[in-house]
Amino acid sequence: KRVIFSGIQPTGIPHLGNYLGALSSWSSLQQPGTTTFYSIVDLHAITMPQDPDILRQSKFDMAVSLLACGVDPKQSALFEQSRVAAHSELAWIFNCLTPVGWLGRMTQWKSKMDQKRGHVASHAEILADESLTTGLKMGLFDYPVLQAADILLYKATHVPVGQDQLQHLELARDTAKLFNKTFKKNVFPKPIAITPPESQRVMSLRQPTVKMSKSDPSEQSRINLSDTPEVIQSKIGRATTDSLVGVSYDKRERPGVSNLLTIYSAVRDISIEEAVKEFEGVESTKQFKEQVADAVIDRIVPIRNELSRLQGDPGYVRQVLDEGAEKAAEVAHKHMEEVYKVIGLK
Ligand code: ATP
Ligand code: MG
Repeated sequence: KRVIFSGIQPTGIPHLGNYLGALSSWSSLQQPGTTTFYSIVDLHAITMPQDPDILRQSKFDMAVSLLACGVDPKQSALFEQSRVAAHSELAWIFNCLTPVGWLGRMTQWKSKMDQKRGHVASHAEILADESLTTGLKMGLFDYPVLQAADILLYKATHVPVGQDQLQHLELARDTAKLFNKTFKKNVFPKPIAITPPESQRVMSLRQPTVKMSKSDPSEQSRINLSDTPEVIQSKIGRATTDSLVGVSYDKRERPGVSNLLTIYSAVRDISIEEAVKEFEGVESTKQFKEQVADAVIDRIVPIRNELSRLQGDPGYVRQVLDEGAEKAAEVAHKHMEEVYKVIGLK
């Protein structure tokens, strides 16, 4: 039996990259025989400073977005992480097992250090220089342990994650192994990653060699699920391409055109080859872009409509999240009882 857990930070309305790289699969993984737990991981969000009012709003916007993207509350438990206290409880237990060294090696943590230091620092350097860690909180360092708890709490067998999270998933696998070995009981399965193919990676519309990201200061670089058809036409119309004739897929020489082909094939659910073929007779870059924009609009507009409908019904969204938390807590509670017994707390 498959048990899937996946989490997403409450960052407001997702962009096309989030949708194609992650959220669209959340909805397609909901199948008979599979149990799906989808969490808005607000406890992870507070590892960095947050404004309380903005955080609250972003959580709501993410919940609405997930529902609009096809997460079905009848098939999945959709819930806020902080509403299921067992995430924090299991994280503490794992904290008491996880060697500090495992966390120091995590590249996400190290890259935060490097941003501060201005160069790639070794773990020893980091520990030796206290000014590096000032401002960064314990929670950020501990992030992967909480993530391991999120996953193992439900005894998840499969975890849809981006490439950038593979190292953290490996830590979750190691944690499962360590726990089982320490207490000589096979409590946790080793979760397997489901990663989207590298080809599904959506790049920035302005700078097609870097990925589309919500942290990009330019709104022109990304398409948000809340964008109107006019805005989508205009953003894609102004996307960076090249002056070569025709449409061909070549990520190195033609990153802009290739990115539009990636987007087109993904929103149409066809292969890149098929996409290239459809554009064989295209007359101009302008025409190519218009067709890509039309395809994106066809896919996004129903989501956008659902988004605005749900935004007007916060009572319903609250109810979905409450019921989701209840469903999740029931499973979590059962597993925590087992954990407490195994380690002698009960
Ligand atoms: P940031 O730039 O701050 O990291 P982000 O836009 O990358 O933000 P995340 O919250 O880190 O968004 O990612 C949420 C999910 O969306 C992850 O599963 C991630 O792998 C996926 N994702 C993010 N950007 C893209 C992209 N450009 N193409 C495909 N998938 C993406
Ligand atoms: Mg990211």
